[in-house]
Amino acid sequence: MSPTYDVIVIGLGGMGSAAAHHLSARGARVLGLEKFGPVHNRGSSHGGSRITRQSSAEHLAGQLPSLPGTFLKAATCMYSNTPDEHFVIARHPAHPESVTVAAGFSGHGFKFVPVVGEIVADLALTGTTAHPIDLFDPSRLAAAPA
Ligand SMILES: Cc1cc2nc3c(=O)[nH]c(=O)nc-3n(C[C@H](O)[C@H](O)[C@H](O)COP(=O)(O)OP(=O)(O)OC[C@H]3O[C@@H](n4cnc5c(N)ncnc54)[C@H](O)[C@@H]3O)c2cc1C
Repeated sequence: MSPTYDVIVIGLGGMGSAAAHHLSARGARVLGLEKFGPVHNRGSSHGGSRITRQSSAEHLAGQLPSLPGTFLKAATCMYSNTPDEHFVIARHPAHPESVTVAAGFSGHGFKFVPVVGEIVADLALTGTTAHPIDLFDPSRLAAAPA
């Protein structure tokens, strides 16, 4: 017999992994789909750039002059910005019964991984959440200037 799932999580970066964790902890049967292997360096949550960032060193230089030391290496990374740099977290407007979207973390999503996972699990399982997520409603972007 083929296995069946309650929720399929597409993309197992920080957000997808946290969502899968919260869904599983609530008893949902979860399938996670990841484009690359379980360990790769092609996502925002992955790779060495999360550990050492040039901008951190530049910032710290003003506060703790002896700490940053010599800058050794930089690597180009990609992340998705929304026009207002706020997240997009919602049930999909055209498929509210079946699709939940969490994206556009605009370079500052990682610190929110645990709570976004919880919110996505809430939305996927019940369609709502107790967390205040109006700021992340994608309909705001339709009215925003390009
Ligand atoms: C250089 C850099 C510095 C950053 N600094 C900070 C910081 O200081 N503080 C902070 O809070 N945040 C920071 N961020 C942002 C933070 O890393 C991201 O907001 C967060 O990691 C996004 O997680 P995610 O799970 O949405 O995306 P990702 O980690 O990119 O995960 C998405 C996953 O989806 C997979 N995928 C893509 N397409 C498919 C597909 N079609 N099918 C299946 N799987 C697919 C990818 O392989 C990837 O594993 C930084 C990001 C970058 C790039």
